[in-house]
Amino acid sequence: MYVLKIHHLRKTWISDALCVLEICRYPLGMTGGQIQDEDISASSQWSESTAARFGRLDFDNGDGDGAWCPDVASEPDGLKEYLQVDLRSLHFVTLVGTQGRHADGMGKEYAQRYRVQYSRDGSSWVGWKDRKGRQVIEGNRNTYDVVLKDLEPPIIARFVRFLPVTDLSQFVCMRVELYGCEWLDGLMSYSIPEGHQMIYRGLDVFFNDSVYDGVSADRSEFTGLGQLTDGTWGLDDFLHSHVYAMWPGYDYVGWSNKSFPKGYVEIFFEFDHVRNFTSMKVHCSNMFSRGVKLFRQVTCFFRSGSEWEADPVTFRPAEDRVTQASRFVAVPLGDRTASAIKCRFHFSDLWMLFSEVAFQSGLKPHMLLTLSLVVLGEDPTHKVDDSNTRILIGCLVAIIAILFTIIVIILWRQVWQKMLEKASRRMLDDELTARLAVQTRAFSSHHSSLSSECGSTSNSTYERIFPLCADYQEPSRLIRKLPEFAQSTEHLDGAPHYAEADIISLQESSDNSSNSITAASMTLFSSTDSSMREFPRQKLTFKEKLGEGQFGEVHLCEADGMQDFLDEDLSIEGTNESPLLVAVKTLREDANKNARNDFLKEIRIMSRLRDPNIVRLLAVCVDTDPLCMITEYMENGDLNQFLFVENTKETSQHLIGMAVQIASGMKYLSSLNFVHRDLATRNCLVGRNFTIKIADFGMSRNLYRGDYYRIQGRAVLPIRWMSWESILLGKFTMASDVWAFGVTLWEILTLCEEQPYSQLSDEQVIENTGEFFRDHGKQVYLPKPPCCPDKVYTELMLSCWRRNAKQRPSFQEIHAQLNESLA
Ligand code: ADP
Repeated sequence: MYVLKIHHLRKTWISDALCVLEICRYPLGMTGGQIQDEDISASSQWSESTAARFGRLDFDNGDGDGAWCPDVASEPDGLKEYLQVDLRSLHFVTLVGTQGRHADGMGKEYAQRYRVQYSRDGSSWVGWKDRKGRQVIEGNRNTYDVVLKDLEPPIIARFVRFLPVTDLSQFVCMRVELYGCEWLDGLMSYSIPEGHQMIYRGLDVFFNDSVYDGVSADRSEFTGLGQLTDGTWGLDDFLHSHVYAMWPGYDYVGWSNKSFPKGYVEIFFEFDHVRNFTSMKVHCSNMFSRGVKLFRQVTCFFRSGSEWEADPVTFRPAEDRVTQASRFVAVPLGDRTASAIKCRFHFSDLWMLFSEVAFQSGLKPHMLLTLSLVVLGEDPTHKVDDSNTRILIGCLVAIIAILFTIIVIILWRQVWQKMLEKASRRMLDDELTARLAVQTRAFSSHHSSLSSECGSTSNSTYERIFPLCADYQEPSRLIRKLPEFAQSTEHLDGAPHYAEADIISLQESSDNSSNSITAASMTLFSSTDSSMREFPRQKLTFKEKLGEGQFGEVHLCEADGMQDFLDEDLSIEGTNESPLLVAVKTLREDANKNARNDFLKEIRIMSRLRDPNIVRLLAVCVDTDPLCMITEYMENGDLNQFLFVENTKETSQHLIGMAVQIASGMKYLSSLNFVHRDLATRNCLVGRNFTIKIADFGMSRNLYRGDYYRIQGRAVLPIRWMSWESILLGKFTMASDVWAFGVTLWEILTLCEEQPYSQLSDEQVIENTGEFFRDHGKQVYLPKPPCCPDKVYTELMLSCWRRNAKQRPSFQEIHAQLNESLA
């Protein structure tokens, strides 16, 4: 669950404003029953048979009297009666639906008008208003039709109340539903200085936060959410707001430099829990012709308890004097832990305008216990005072979890055993070798669950978005149970697994069958490196953290005298900067011997690769600990984040060009018969002017943990990028890199908005692999991305996923073909 939740956080980061509001419209469970009776309450009820729990839209099981009906007599003005829904966690609510009383067609009551109130903490309530300030919503005209109303602006809340607007002459009854999705940002409120007014050529432009739901005092706004979280982001030209036909500047909240002597605006963000923050995205205007620019620098401070931590994170976005398009600026937050963040945004011009702020984070591991308590029905907002009770509950949760896991494992084993027996009986009738047939049937015979278990039988919308299938499987162990297969799985068993292992020995062992290691590549991998020079580490000056990898942190550093240090062959074209900016990857101090060896091997591999589309290793610091490798700095980070965040028109025009560069880098690797094994956008880096270089000659990384498939804490495999023969046979060849290239191309053309096969669980992905082997037409291919030219999909992408590895194109062909489609 935990893993899935974090993984799906990214899904809320949708690149188009309207998309958030359009996509996030799932019924939240009044009709479907996911909202429990005890979470539906009311200020009063006319009778037991019209209690709150009967207020579910489209729902009349004959049990109650067909709706919730308040006791209007209890309140003289009848205006305070409400039906309340507790969603148990913060939700982004975009739509509400109402209906009158059914009572087997006998009902006569309905609410013609109503208001909505909401609360995030259950104690302070806000009356919802539309963008023009109107509170009353037009409701039903009869008892049976469902009337849906868009909430514009949407609500971010845990509790929502419906208040029928009525007078004493009317009886009203309601059935309701809420639509939206879970609010995974966890942001409870932000506090900002009040927005300012600009006069532009005689026109009044208002940059106030017009839908802020907190309090205003002393020219600041506190404890609320508003336009910065309404899922709508501003147009390039801030004077226009065509969506809602409001006043000029409506979409933005903005400030004038003149009013801030310190040169920055401070925004304070408060969250529901302690979280690990990976990044913050700020949607900003960059209309520099009108004195508006992106912020020059942002410094964020973090607080988990009562004190602000001393070491803030600072980030400077690249200044853009070319395009005036508004955009999201992604601010890496370095996995910092906090429940509150305060960020100082420094002006770089007269004005700074923001229209949206979003956070990417995961819950802290200790939140797992809290989540478990939620599962057990405990309310995490109510503190368990007695620490013994806490321990006891913790133990109980642990015991239940262990028992549950054991039962699941036992059941799985039995199921697998049966399937394997079946498979071995039918072993001779297939076209490949006997061992191939056996193992693949082991996977494929389980195919039926692909469409049923997690997909079509589920009528819960939530399950459709968050499939709750098993996270972890151990296929290699199960396959090994077959005597016929025991021998052939040695390479999976004896040899180290992909992720934890020596990439070189895997390179050799898995390619035995295909003889893909030539003399040239053997020299490449076996010789000890003499050309890589030791750089004096005191000449490195730390600038900022760029990311975190498998081995440790990656830092941006200034390397004093690096240009002179590099021989001509290595020097970086087009830059004479001194000191030179470089990326320094450091092996963490507590790394074990294996990690140390892997790190040195990555150095050895990289030191021999020279290609414009392969990241260049410049120097190393290996004489003393900690071991460092110094590579060229790619200022736009990895391609996955880049595409996801820089989702602009300009970027879209370069997608195929980027793919061409990756194909070119891979062409070079294939000329050396070098198999990368982990080609994916997360492993490509982006430099200036959309330059792409392939990186990561090591292994899996932490940042994208969700992309890898973990087998009982041992091997970690990027299964969604792997060919069927890599998964089933452990066979990695150039042709399996071609398969991964097809997936990478798919990622690029979908702008990395979702993971490949995001609707399939890991287990289902493996099942699908079995279908590729069986080739009965049941295999599922990644769909054509909307902006992918037909030809690229049918002639290139699909050809990368051909079952017969020999029929897949070579990188040379791919490169030529992509170049052609570019022309
Ligand atoms: P690992 O391979 O050990 O998982 P990486 O080398 O991929 O770690 O580094 C982790 C992150 O650091 C990357 O995702 C990227 O954002 C950043 N990074 C790594 N190398 C560079 C570089 N040369 N230039 C810019 N950013 C980099």
